[in-house]
Amino acid sequence: HIVHVPLGERTYDIVIGPDAIGSAGTRLKKMFPGARFAIVTDTNVSESQLPRLEASLSAQGLAYHVIVVAAGEASKNWATLNTVVDGIIAARLERNDIVLALGGGVIGDLAGFAASITRRGMDFVQIPTSLLAQVDSSVGGKTGINSVHGKNLVGAFHQPRLVLADLSALDTLPARQFNAGYAELAKYGLIDDAELFFWLEANYRDIAAGGASRAQAIAKACAAKARVVAGDEKERGNRALLNLGHTFGHALEKATGYSERLLHGEGVSIGMVLAYKFSARIGICPSQEVGRVEAHLKNAGLPTTLADIPGDLAPTEALLDMIAQDKKVSRGKLTFILTRGIGQAFIENDVAPDAIRAFLEDMR
Ligand code: NAD
Ligand code: ZN
Repeated sequence: HIVHVPLGERTYDIVIGPDAIGSAGTRLKKMFPGARFAIVTDTNVSESQLPRLEASLSAQGLAYHVIVVAAGEASKNWATLNTVVDGIIAARLERNDIVLALGGGVIGDLAGFAASITRRGMDFVQIPTSLLAQVDSSVGGKTGINSVHGKNLVGAFHQPRLVLADLSALDTLPARQFNAGYAELAKYGLIDDAELFFWLEANYRDIAAGGASRAQAIAKACAAKARVVAGDEKERGNRALLNLGHTFGHALEKATGYSERLLHGEGVSIGMVLAYKFSARIGICPSQEVGRVEAHLKNAGLPTTLADIPGDLAPTEALLDMIAQDKKVSRGKLTFILTRGIGQAFIENDVAPDAIRAFLEDMR
């Protein structure tokens, strides 16, 4: 499967294949003649997937340098960014050389941002190895790190030149991480494509088992994201729909310290169900549809309620503060992605904090 992301002179392809890493060397050699490469990866992926990429580059006689950072969200910080940038410079990569981001969303965001600022902007290629990265973060050009004030507050729009999504990389991905990525996949159906959501329901078994529907599901997700991004690259309008479930989700991630207690995709799963439940509560979304969404996510091994989060949850007032600090807020009112049903999400800029406070109290 090849999905095209049409963005004028920043247009690129997403190649989804069973051995996209194995054929990376050939593709990269053809696309970037004479270039040298810096592979940025993390301590997990360097064990499971890096050897395949190194073999593929070596077989084509391509020169590369490897930069390994600690696995986990905590690496999206200034110190690690500094290490990556200096690593690229120390390897004597020139402006026409290429950064390869091999890993999950953390590596894609970090390495992409490093590429955007090193030597005033180097090209980079996304080689996503987690499901979340393959269906979401590797596409669309958002790169960055976290600030002490919150997630993704420092960054740049920097589109990759190419995305290589390798299906067999998912074989070494822990099941919990796979499920978390599945939440972002289901999100595209929930936003504006009920057909896709019903198709996911019908094909879930095969997708989870690694059957032929898995590649199709990833391609459908990439096509959905490409369409939204092509229509609104810098998030001045409809791209915000991709934040469905994320305003609640980010607050829950923050409240649990960005830890193993709650993965990003798990926060998004709970957040999407909360967005659907809130929409039902204000009378705009049929409650059977909320039940159907919750049942599917649960079936996919995902948490769907606040009670599913292990340990004590921060008080409602603290959660509300975190929601208000999230960047999707204006003039004392909160911005939420709400919905009129499956595949009918919309941006609501006028949500009263009091309504969310009362809702969260009831949900605990
Ligand atoms: P991650 O990069 O931390 O990967 C999850 C875990 O899986 C890590 O421990 C990683 O080492 C491991 N892993 C990845 N691939 C593996 C493989 N093939 N085999 C074995 N282990 C593997 O997290 P993620 O869930 O991929 O991404 C989450 C991040 O993505 C968050 O920081 C989020 O903010 C960001 N994100 C960005 C965008 C965007 O548009 N830029 C969109 C969504 C999410
Ligand atoms: Zn997300």
